[in-house]
Parts: sequence; C-alpha cells; structure tokens
Amino acid sequence: MARTQIEWTQETWNPTKGCTKISAGCKYCYAEVFARRLQAMGHKDYIDGFKFRILPHRLEYPLTVKKPTIFFVNSMSDLFHEECPWEFIDRVFEIINRTPHHVYQILTKRAEIMKDYFLERGNSVPANVWLGVTVESKAYKKRIDLLRQINARIRFLSCEPLLSDLGIINLDGIHWVIVGGESGPQARPMKKEWVLNIKKQCEEQGVKFFFKQWGTWGEDGVKRSKKANGTLLDGKHYAQIPL
Ligand code: SF4
Repeated sequence: MARTQIEWTQETWNPTKGCTKISAGCKYCYAEVFARRLQAMGHKDYIDGFKFRILPHRLEYPLTVKKPTIFFVNSMSDLFHEECPWEFIDRVFEIINRTPHHVYQILTKRAEIMKDYFLERGNSVPANVWLGVTVESKAYKKRIDLLRQINARIRFLSCEPLLSDLGIINLDGIHWVIVGGESGPQARPMKKEWVLNIKKQCEEQGVKFFFKQWGTWGEDGVKRSKKANGTLLDGKHYAQIPL
C-alpha cells in the first residue's frame, strides 16, 4: 500500500477498487482520475479502470505492518458500494479485528448501506475503527442521522469538497469534522463563511475540527494552485484529530 498525501491519515489500504458516482461531491472524483491513470500504466488491479471490484489479495496487507498505523480504508473506492458483498466486508473486519494496534478510518457516501450492514448483521464496530460519512452540502445532512445510529467509538464527517453552507448541524454523537475545498481545474468554489459556520458549531459542541485545504479557490475567493492557497484559515492551522 502507499504512504499518502491525505493530511488526516498515514496510509491507505484499498481492499476494493473502483466506484460509481452517487452524489454531487463525486463529480470530479480524484479516485476515478487516478484509476484511469493506473489503467493506462497497465496496473494489474486497474485493467478495468474505475469499475468496482473486490481485491482479496490485498486483504492481509495490514497484518504485515508491525508499526501502529492510521489507515484510510478505500481511498480509491467505497467499502459500502452496492456491489460489495457483505461477506467480503466481514473479511475486511476480520483483518481489522486481528490488528488492534492499527486505527482504521472508514468513510462512505453510502450511509444507508453502512447502517444496514452493522444493524442487520448485529456486528459491533471494532474499537480501532473510526466511521465517517461525507456531507458535502445541505442535501446530504441525512447521512449524519444514519451514522449516529451506529454504535462506533469515533464517528466523523468529511465535508469535502464543501459545496454549500450546511446551516445548523446536529453534531450530537459526532467526534470529528474534516473540511476542505475542491481541487483541480474545474473545482467549484468553497466560501469562507461556510467553513467558519462549521468551525463555530464544532467549537460550541466540543467536536474536533480539521481544516484540510482551500483547494483551487483561496480564502480570498481567488482561483490559484491548491498549494498556493494552502491550509491556513484566518492565519491558523486547524488540524485536530480525535486521538
Ligand atoms: S463515492 Fe467517493 S470514490 Fe465513489 S465516485 Fe464518489 S467520490 Fe469517487
């Protein structure tokens, strides 16, 4: 697996690959672009590009990592994809249970399926798992209620790419919120007041807040490179994590 550029994790572990767009935030999915690149390079796991597929040969990778590591599960996919057999998800959790020295961050836009998986299976969420849902705009706030129904030690929201103001958010039972703007030439702008609204509510409700990046549109509303726009909000780094 790979060390990653994603600021809020340490390594990625992709026991599945590929996905299907289901949400406004999927429009310029980086995983799709990356999958097509790997396909063009002849990577054996990406011969069918971005099509969803399970990768059983990758399952045991975390067992080989002795150093305690924070893994982001499926940076190139969605573990709760409609085509992912629940028996395979069981196998992913078997590995997670056998490696309590690691932390696993599992993020989905398929909150309904994730909720059904845990509630119908009656499986408890291992203590070393952080479960999250993407909430990129007001339209997807219902995912937070679905997440709250699952008894996980850490529940988190990824508001990236943030595409609208979220208004009032019920953060009851939520431990961590990540916010970030979109990158790439076609990126949609993120307004500073939307970010400040989330930050304020995190502070008021005792929730850790992580500001990942501005992306293509800066704090001042000007389009530049992601690097030039940086990761500061009002001159400060906000990089809390719920450890
Ligand atoms: S759910 Fe995630 S991986 Fe799947 S298409 Fe959307 S952004 Fe890409």
